[in-house]
Order: sequence, then structure tokens, then C-alpha cells
Amino acid sequence: MSTHLIFARHAWLEQGWQRDVLITWNNEGLITAVDVNAIPPEGTEAVDWLLPGMPNLHSHAFQRIFSGMTEYRQDPADSFWSWRKLMYAFAQHITPPQLEIIATQLYQEMLAAGYTSVCEFHYVHHQPGGEPYPQAIEMSAALIRAAQQTGMGMTLLPVLYQTNGFGNQPPEAHQRRFTHEKSSFLAFWDRLFDLCQATGVKLGLAPHSLRAINPADLQAVLSHIFAADATAPVHIHVSEQQKEVDDCLAWCGKRPVQWLLDNVDIDSRWCLIHATHMDEREYRQAAATGAVIGLCPTTEANLGDGIFDFRQWQSWQGNWGIGSDSHIAVNAAEELLQLEYSQRLMHHKRNICCDEREPDVASYLYRKALQGGAQASGRSISGLAIGQCADFIELDATHPALAGLAAEHVLAAHIFASSRQSAIKQVWTRGTRRYQAASMATSKQQEDIAAIRQHVLARSIKE
Ligand code: ZN
Repeated sequence: MSTHLIFARHAWLEQGWQRDVLITWNNEGLITAVDVNAIPPEGTEAVDWLLPGMPNLHSHAFQRIFSGMTEYRQDPADSFWSWRKLMYAFAQHITPPQLEIIATQLYQEMLAAGYTSVCEFHYVHHQPGGEPYPQAIEMSAALIRAAQQTGMGMTLLPVLYQTNGFGNQPPEAHQRRFTHEKSSFLAFWDRLFDLCQATGVKLGLAPHSLRAINPADLQAVLSHIFAADATAPVHIHVSEQQKEVDDCLAWCGKRPVQWLLDNVDIDSRWCLIHATHMDEREYRQAAATGAVIGLCPTTEANLGDGIFDFRQWQSWQGNWGIGSDSHIAVNAAEELLQLEYSQRLMHHKRNICCDEREPDVASYLYRKALQGGAQASGRSISGLAIGQCADFIELDATHPALAGLAAEHVLAAHIFASSRQSAIKQVWTRGTRRYQAASMATSKQQEDIAAIRQHVLARSIKE
């Protein structure tokens, strides 16, 4: 089997930045060797700072087309719910060829912004009006083609959507593109399973939310998909808005996460998207299941959802990852930054998302989001290690925010100080280069910046 190589003067491995790392992968794009303090064979491509790519664990690709178009007041009470009406209006008109174009553009943006894998939580299944397409899975197939064209790794999560509210309220006209009866959904999922097997896409399931499914069908659907693939990831929107919690309490006397914990066998295959509004018991019990929480900090801020209590989740060693959800921002570093900043604003403190073992905020955020994102994706994408996909990013050593920095500051400079994605120079998935920034020749000014930084650093250490 032929092999492929890259040599990184610094690569971010499980134990942090390591020097002179030679990474080897096979024809399937899976890493077969990671050698530290290596001497590369002559002619090996060499890079300065090599980071694993970040999984994006929550995306609704079609929403990218109207991001930025809902930032005006229609009513003083504008909220998530009024935004959702606008979103439904846009969702009515997207065709499969349009979705393929939107998703192709979006996945290129994601690659350039540090994401190398996406979980597509996809619910616009049918024609406007609700008739299935002649090929029922046409919209999903458009997303898969977009992933293939761009090289984006994909976990497809077809959405089970049935109702317009707790207690089996019938769907409204604008939801007919989304809905399935149980039997038609299972046939739909089986067709997708064949296509995903043929295209290397991981197939999972997304019960949309407790308000949009018939709970009586959930167990049968889960049994069906786990019989086909016992490792299929399952994602669900839950407790994003206080109104959802109140409606759930009115329906069954329990909060949404509590209802799930009490009625469904939640385990490490599950990803609870948002889970913004949990009480102490829900935080503790949800963490104990091993499930991942899918945080989407820029979307949650944009929609006014509320602030996730990171400290409480962390105190129970809960798993989490990040997603760009509505794509109001498409940028892995910005999601991490927004997460940390929301906690600083809430607690009036600095450096929240870290611990005694890993006091460096950027490293802590990156490592946890990578692990949780890989788990929620159900794919081998948890970093630069044997058996994982050769998905990685080169940071630009000459970027003004990075130039002249010691290794321990490089990741923080990328996440907090580089205007989020401007330091990303090249991106690979499965060992193939998918993105290359326009070349920036090193200027005298950049050299001066590096020299000043080193001078200031040397003086401040002496003081
Ligand atoms: Zn969502």
C-alpha cells in the first residue's frame, strides 16, 4: 500500500505541541504513523504549525443562504420564534440543485475556517407543499454531492419531523416539506443508508426535538437504525429556549432533557444540541450518560437562546463540541471564542474554560471540542493519531498574530487574536489538500513584528 507523508516542525498531538513530527497516511486517508523528533525523507512537504481539523457537529446548510438577512426589528418582541417564521419562509423555496450549490459554497467556507468534518442535521426533505420528490432522498443526495465535491467529511443526520408542538399537534403548511410518518421515514432512512455506504458518509438520525416528534414512534425508529448500525449517532435539539421548557412542563410535567433521560436510553451515541436550559439534576444526569452537548455559541447568541452553564457541565466532566448551526458565523475559532467570552461576561472573570491540568484556555477548548465533535460525528476524526483521518490545518507562522511566538501561545493567538481564521494557511482532509490561502509573501513589517514581540517578551520575563 502506498503511503503519504507530511512533516510538521510543530504538530499538535494529544500531549500538545511536539517538535519535528512526521505523519504518514494510507490510500484511504487514515493516519498510519505519527513519529516525533523525526527526520523527514528528502522532498517531504514541510509545514510550521499543524493542527487537527475541527469537527462541526451541527449544521443546517440551507440556512447559510439567508444568514444576515434577519437582523432587523419587525416587532419589539422579536425572538427565536419570530426568526423561525422567517427561516420557514426561506426553507419553502430551496430546490435540490440550489441546495447543492449552497452547501458546496458553505463547505468550502468551513474548510477555509478550520472545519474538516460536518454533521448535517437535515430536515428539508420534500417538495414545497409536501409531496416527496420522485427520488425521495434528492435533497439529502444534494448535500452528499456537496461534501464529495469539496472533500468535507460528513455525518448525515436525516431528521424525523412529525408535529408542530408537544402533544402531537399536527404540522402546519410550512412544515410539510419536513414531515414523515414512521413507516415512510424508515424506508427513507434505508435508502439513505445504501447511498451513505456507497459514498463513505456516516449515517445517523436526528429526531428534530421533543416538540416535533411523536414520542411513541421514537423507540421503534431507534431500534431500526441501531439494527443497521449499532454505532449510528443520534442528535436532537433540546432545551434551546425557555418557552420549549415551559411547553414541555405543561405537556408532561417534566423538563425536556429530564423527559429524555427518563424515557429513552441516552448514551454516548447521543448528542444533545444546545441543552441551554437545564437544571442541576439534568446537568448531572446528562453528563453521566456520556452523551455530547452540541454547543453553537454564535447561533445561540444570535437567536437570544441564553447562556449554557459551562462550569456546571464541566464540574460533571460532561462532553461537548461545537457547531455553526444557522451559519451566522462559519468559523471554528470564533465558536470557541464566543463560548469562552459568554462565560466571562456571565461570571465577571477571565479564563473560565480550562482546568488545573490544562490552564491554557485555547488548548483546553480545542481539545475538548475536538474529542466531543469526533464522538458526536461517529467518525475517526479525533486528532493526529494512528487510525484517525488525515484531517489537518496549517497555521501561518508569518501571520502578524503568530509571528515570533513560542509554541505555548500559538493556539491562543489563532483563536483569540488572529481575527479568527486569517492565520489558516492550508487545510487537508483524508490527506488531500482542500484549501490553500492566497500566498502572503513575508514582508519586512512581519519580520519587525516578530522581533518586537520577542524583545517585549524577553523583557517582561525578566521583570
Ligand atoms: Zn439546529
